[in-house]
Parts: sequence; C-alpha cells; structure tokens
Amino acid sequence: MREKLPKNKPETTLVALFGFPVKHTLSPLFQNAAFQALGMNTFYLALEVPPEELPDAINAIRSRKFLGANLTIPHKETVIPFLDEVSLPAQKCGSVNTVVNHNGKLRGETTDGPGFIRSLKEEAGITPKGKRIFLIGAGGAARALAFSLAEAKASICLTNRTAVKGEKLVSDLKNYYPQNTITYVPFSEKSKTLRREKIDVLINATSLGLKKEEELFRPADLAGKIVVCDLIYNRKTLLLQSAQELGLKTINGLGMLIHQGALSFQLWTGKTAPIKIMFAAVK
Ligand code: NDP
Repeated sequence: MREKLPKNKPETTLVALFGFPVKHTLSPLFQNAAFQALGMNTFYLALEVPPEELPDAINAIRSRKFLGANLTIPHKETVIPFLDEVSLPAQKCGSVNTVVNHNGKLRGETTDGPGFIRSLKEEAGITPKGKRIFLIGAGGAARALAFSLAEAKASICLTNRTAVKGEKLVSDLKNYYPQNTITYVPFSEKSKTLRREKIDVLINATSLGLKKEEELFRPADLAGKIVVCDLIYNRKTLLLQSAQELGLKTINGLGMLIHQGALSFQLWTGKTAPIKIMFAAVK
C-alpha cells in the first residue's frame, strides 16, 4: 500500500521514529494506515538520528505537536536518562521502544515483549503461563521478551552465543523473578538440551538468519516441539523452514512487529488500534 500524507493543517500532530539506520522500517506504513483509518490528522515519520543527536531529538518531542515517539536500534537503552519517567516493565528490561508525551513530560514504555505475547496468543493460541520456553539470544529483543515471558510466569531456558551476556540476562531475570524456573544453557549444548527437554515454545531472538543463512538447529532437534518462533520477519529463515517441514506451528516476527506498534498506538492516542488495517498495510 502506498503511504498517503495527511493534509498538513494547524492541528496536525506527529509521532517520530528515531533510529540509526531507519531506512528499512515498516512502521510508517502501518502506523500511518492506522491514523488514517481512525480519521486522525497525525503523521508518523521515521528519522535517522545518530547517537550524539538523540538528546536534542528527544527534547524536540516535548512540543505539544508530538504525541510521542518510537525508538529502535541503537537508542532503546540509551534513551532512558533523557526521559522524565520510565514504566516498571521498561525499567526491569532496561529498554524503551515507546515514548509518550504528556504535556511536555516524557514517559518511556516497552511494548516489544507484550507485542510478542499477543502474537503468540493470536497466532498459536498459546499463553506463556506454565509453559517451557527455549529462548535463543541476549540482545535487546531477547531481553524484552524474556522479561515479559517471566512476568507472565513462563519457565525459561536461555542460551546465547556470547555466554557472559546470556548469563547476565539470566541473573537479571532471577533477581526479579526468583520464583520462576530460569536456566542458562551453554550455546554449544543448545541442540542436546532441546532434544532432551520438554519445550513448548522455541524462540530465535538473534539476528542469525537476517541476511546470511546459517543453521541454528538440525531439523531432528526440533521434533516434538509445539511452536517455533523467529523474530525475523523479512524472510523465512531456515529454522522456520525446518519446523514447517516437520509440520510444527511457526510464527515469524511480523505479528510481534504489528502488535508492539498497536500497543504503542494505543498509548499515544488512547484509542484501540485497527489491527487488521495495520496488517493489511504491510502484507
Ligand atoms: P541485538 O544486536 O541487540 O542482539 C543480537 C543477538 O543476536 C545477540 O544475542 C547476538 O549474540 C545474536 N547473534 C548475532 N549474530 C549471531 C550469530 N551469527 N550466531 C549466533 N547468535 C548471533 O539485536 P536485537 O535483539 O535488537 O534483534 C535481534 C533480532 O530480532 C533481529 O533479527 C531483529 O530484526 C529482530 N527483531 C524483531 C522485532 C519484531 O518486532 N519482530 C523487534 C526487534 C528485533 P551475541 O550476544 O553473541 O552477539
């Protein structure tokens, strides 16, 4: 769908996406479709903001012309000191992807983890409570997911290529959720663990597969799992191909992308986001 610009009137309001780079983002497509569907005179624009310009960019959205902003790589963590308030979930995972402007006061929120949980429920009918999740990765996306899944009372088995980062995430999770079962598995033992353990949901939250394809698991490792997810949404990864060949339910990152955007939309506008229109805009 082609983006149509709203008429620029004195009452036009704005939402900005700050990232570096931002040229591949799909967010303007589905957010502008949502604003138009609700007849709002609001425009969502993606702006390339290098790290040294982030403080000025954040200050600019205090203007009443801005409903707020989204943040993407590399700003989700570094934005926190420039905000007036940060929600507890965003404080716990140390990541903000949404800023809401309340009359010049900026509040940071995180909708990535809740967006993923909605996608899991909508696309696979699964709620995390009591489920065994095998999570691969310890970057920004994995952190956001891990905290939301732990909050939702899932047990988590986590692995990461760089052990020290994976172990740190597990230790942070255990501090906040001592009652949950949360374990770290060395990256070299991920296949063995996956074969041995009863796992309900396998999630690839790494950028492996984003461009060059490398095998994360052999198809045989996946047998018996219920749902296999990959946060990548621009291509079908080898992981999802293997899972589909085994007849497993698969989920790519598109649902998470739209649902996190829908939750942000709700925070900026106080209105329910038109999810179907947002999906249609990117399909
Ligand atoms: P980060 O750069 O913060 O983290 C990257 C992660 O990938 C780290 O755990 C890193 O491990 C791992 N990794 C990178 N290359 C390899 C490799 N060759 N082998 C094994 N592990 C590797 O990125 P994000 O967490 O922000 O994003 C991760 C993925 O999630 C991306 O593909 C991104 O597109 C996707 N994403 C999707 C979203 C959606 O809405 N669907 C939202 C946000 C992200 P190490 O620590 O060892 O470097």
